[in-house]
Amino acid sequence: MMKTAIVTGGSRGIGAAIVKMLAEEGYNVIINYNRSEEIAKRMKEEFTSKGYSVETFQADVSKREEVKELVEFTIQKFGKIDVLINNAGISQTKLFTDITEEDWNNMLNIDLNSVFHMTQEVVPYMIHEKQGCIINISSIWGMIGASCEVHYSVAKAGVDAMTKSLAKELGPSNIRVNSIAPGIIDTDMNRYLSTEELEQITEEIPLGKIGNTSAIAKCAKWLMEDDYTTGQIISINGGWNIN
Ligand code: NAP
Repeated sequence: MMKTAIVTGGSRGIGAAIVKMLAEEGYNVIINYNRSEEIAKRMKEEFTSKGYSVETFQADVSKREEVKELVEFTIQKFGKIDVLINNAGISQTKLFTDITEEDWNNMLNIDLNSVFHMTQEVVPYMIHEKQGCIINISSIWGMIGASCEVHYSVAKAGVDAMTKSLAKELGPSNIRVNSIAPGIIDTDMNRYLSTEELEQITEEIPLGKIGNTSAIAKCAKWLMEDDYTTGQIISINGGWNIN
């Protein structure tokens, strides 16, 4: 029986690269998107024309009701969920003193509470199957903190804490939970940075380059295949942060 995966925020960037990897690996893939309907539909057409099993589902994963619908759709369509990729996220750069109550809540709702909602709705199906793999896309900033991104860093640190705690709780049910904490990856999320800013960042990275989304997808593939890694935060960052 084919395995099934959900990728939240699968319409663009890192999520889209993971969708491609999963489709090529022979998974049924649900591409969750929020606003990028056109892109998601095009992805579905492209993958389906190649013979891959891909569906799309619109849901704002910060909202519990929409998450429930996404999970119900997946179960109705494919009967089980083997892999959950909690990838959807936003970033925002602001001085701490300028962060409003609304900014703070919006960040925690989208980048942290979404992972709570998704994981809580999916885990019962994984427990039923006595197996599962959950991969949370956190960030280097959750590990080391980022100036002018306090709310983002807090949300991502929360995701990493969820990864570790859940790995302990769900290990006996044969469900593995890991985080991939990227450094800087070439996606729309970083389009706001100027050429000078990007050059400055690149100089700080030992491997001397911005990462590609495929590096994150390769790590996700390895985490899906390996059966003895759980509760780990794996930072793919070109050496930007070496402890
Ligand atoms: P991106 O190119 O901006 O894509 C973000 C994706 O998240 C889009 O597919 C978007 O969907 C989706 N999304 C946003 N809010 C959503 C919501 N409420 N419900 C459902 N989907 C939602 O960003 P990216 O760089 O690929 O980032 C992916 C993940 O990696 C994020 O969690 C980010 O924090 C993390 N990360 C990225 C970097 C980096 O340098 N790029 C570094 C560290 C960590 P729609 O377009 O359909 O709305």
